[in-house]
Amino acid sequence: MSGQNSSSPATIRPIQNLRITFWGVQGSCPIFPNPYGIQEYSRRLAVHTLAKAFDEMTQRAKGGLLRVEDLLGGPLSQQTIEVYQQKIGLPDLPFYGGETTCVEVETSEGNILIFDAGSGIRRCSLGVVEKWRAKQDRVLHLFGSHEHLDHRIGLTFSRFCYVSPRPFTVNVYGSYPFLHALDQHYGLFSRQTSDVTYVDDPVDYTQMSAVFRGFELHGQSDAESPNKRFWEVRELNEPITIGSTVVQPFEAYHAMTCCVGYRVEHNGKSFVFSTDHEFRRGNQTDPCQERSVVAEARLRKQCMDADLAYMDGQYYLEEYLGKKGIGSFPPVPRVDWGHGCMEDAIERTIQCRIKRTLVGHHDPEREWTHRLEQDRYLAKLCEGKAYQIELADSDRVIDL
Ligand SMILES: [Zn+2]
Ligand SMILES: [Zn+2]
Repeated sequence: MSGQNSSSPATIRPIQNLRITFWGVQGSCPIFPNPYGIQEYSRRLAVHTLAKAFDEMTQRAKGGLLRVEDLLGGPLSQQTIEVYQQKIGLPDLPFYGGETTCVEVETSEGNILIFDAGSGIRRCSLGVVEKWRAKQDRVLHLFGSHEHLDHRIGLTFSRFCYVSPRPFTVNVYGSYPFLHALDQHYGLFSRQTSDVTYVDDPVDYTQMSAVFRGFELHGQSDAESPNKRFWEVRELNEPITIGSTVVQPFEAYHAMTCCVGYRVEHNGKSFVFSTDHEFRRGNQTDPCQERSVVAEARLRKQCMDADLAYMDGQYYLEEYLGKKGIGSFPPVPRVDWGHGCMEDAIERTIQCRIKRTLVGHHDPEREWTHRLEQDRYLAKLCEGKAYQIELADSDRVIDL
């Protein structure tokens, strides 16, 4: 990971095929380190620094007595300590938590596809506007998974909504409820307000310079809405082509709402974005069970031989079944809460021959120490294997 400025982890390497940047992987609501997390992080930094310094001292002291000046390359001062600290470097500690779902995919042709408008899209948008400062034709593609707040809360904080002259055009793809939610709250497509506009925030379409074009992904089982549409309607199964990139939408199981996942193909490389999907363990006679099983088969089909997949693994099976709590949260059965299990993410990765899987939509109650345990468990599981499974963390950039 390398940062150009505080808002962007973008790198300057040319894009070979696809560059995927994870701006937000937190589930349900943004979370930031609590005092305990900061303390634990500081402790690990201190241990790293002391270990490096003692190691160097041991090596150098072999030749005789070692003075602090010898180690620092000058008299003890703030400046020499800082130079020495830079030499030691920082440990590669994961950063957990942060913003809710937003993943940016840049293609070698210069197109930008954004998956979900969770709170992570705010920082994503700063980078996009900067990258496209001199670009004449600025057309972004925003793919929504579904209408829940954690997947759309960041849109009105996005810089690209307010650029002029040469405003951005934003093509928005998603289910009817996703487009309808954006339209009702901000009037993006109909250019009208409704009785829920200003419920989430004070902004509406009149304050935005961006032009929004909607593309509804209509599934076969979706109910027909009586409301007028202010956007184009397409079949959910129909692939979307952007330059030589092909995006295949597919329907996941997210209890009572339609959640869409996407497989992105470009130059023979593939990335699967799938959030808020539940492989359900409930009453077998419940029609929801059948829907979940069918959706799981669809997801597995789309995951076959993928180079990279992002998927929901919010719970462990015992937590999902209500046998174990998460953090200080008491055990509660999570059937039809719409989220997946880590065990399913692992099995899917193996069965579908996915090369690398990042598991996200982290539960807000998951404690720092437990995440480190998960990391160690996954690292051990993947030792010597053809696949790699890791917890997703924000600001990670992966080139395919
Ligand atoms: Zn969610
Ligand atoms: Zn959701």
